[in-house]
Amino acid sequence: MTHLRPLFAFKIIHLFEGNGASEILRSCLSLALYLLLCYTPLTERWDMPRIVVFLILLLASCFSKSVDKERVRVLATNSIIGDVVKEVGKGSVELSILLPPGADPHSFEPSPQDMVKASQARIIFINGAGLEEVFFKRLVESASPEAIIVDLSEGIELLPYEGEEEGEHEHEVDPHIWLDPTNVIIWTHHIASALGEADPQNADFYRQNAQDYEKKLLELDAWIKEMVKSIPPERRKLIVDHLALGYFAKRYGFQQVGAIIPGITTLAEPSAQHIAELLDLVRREKVPAIFVSSSVNPKLAEQLAKDAGIKVVFLYVGSLSQPGGPAPTYLELMRYNVSAIVEALK
Ligand SMILES: [Zn+2]
Repeated sequence: MTHLRPLFAFKIIHLFEGNGASEILRSCLSLALYLLLCYTPLTERWDMPRIVVFLILLLASCFSKSVDKERVRVLATNSIIGDVVKEVGKGSVELSILLPPGADPHSFEPSPQDMVKASQARIIFINGAGLEEVFFKRLVESASPEAIIVDLSEGIELLPYEGEEEGEHEHEVDPHIWLDPTNVIIWTHHIASALGEADPQNADFYRQNAQDYEKKLLELDAWIKEMVKSIPPERRKLIVDHLALGYFAKRYGFQQVGAIIPGITTLAEPSAQHIAELLDLVRREKVPAIFVSSSVNPKLAEQLAKDAGIKVVFLYVGSLSQPGGPAPTYLELMRYNVSAIVEALK
């Protein structure tokens, strides 16, 4: 039985962890426990080998605690932001992601359980530009008072959205900023500086990771420019399910000529007249494909494609794929989308 004592003590030490007891009280209790278990009443002697074992366990316990402490608890609202936070924070952040892969960021409403993640985070990274509008108020209410919310769209030149009718959606901006990789470079700066403020000891580490990732984003940007060259300029026209490709189109010389849902979110219902006009447009512009976000119901797009005799091409727009899928990281998402667009339009 006595050989189990060190193990038992070690478990007790861990029971004290994270239960709100003060550091000093915890240390005193642990120490008292060690001494008690190292004394053998029968022989009235101190058991030196056992004291050594306990000291090793104590050191191990302190070390594991300090490692835990260093990890910054971070929440990203969606999987794309989460991937970029992972690139900058690497093993020094404990990352949670609010929206699961495949969720439509415009309509998804996190459950109360999902919102618990917000209450535990020290930093919450949001896309901003209205993307989190549906649950933003609940997110702020759920966040811990010490948490900081970092709006990644800050400093990015946002594209205004003008609705079809005059005066409509006056102050709206297009939230799909990540589809231009040079905007994601701005994200990495925000992420590195927020992590560096919360965890100054690792500030250089975050800055270096951001720089390394920035190089990959620039490579991606150059690769996209090269790929797009194979599409004749007059064929660089995009018909989409909703107006999600504005930043991508602006950066790489495309025109977003029409959308099933004539808006920057997926929340509206298109009228029959709008669909009929879009069908005319598709025929007039001789567009060979319609691009649909994988997180959106494709029914209307499939019907239009059938009527017009064109292809439906799925893209990963508002979410990464599942880990085993074709777009498990932001870089792969962009490469997948660009390859699909080039294949359909060249
Ligand atoms: Zn969207």
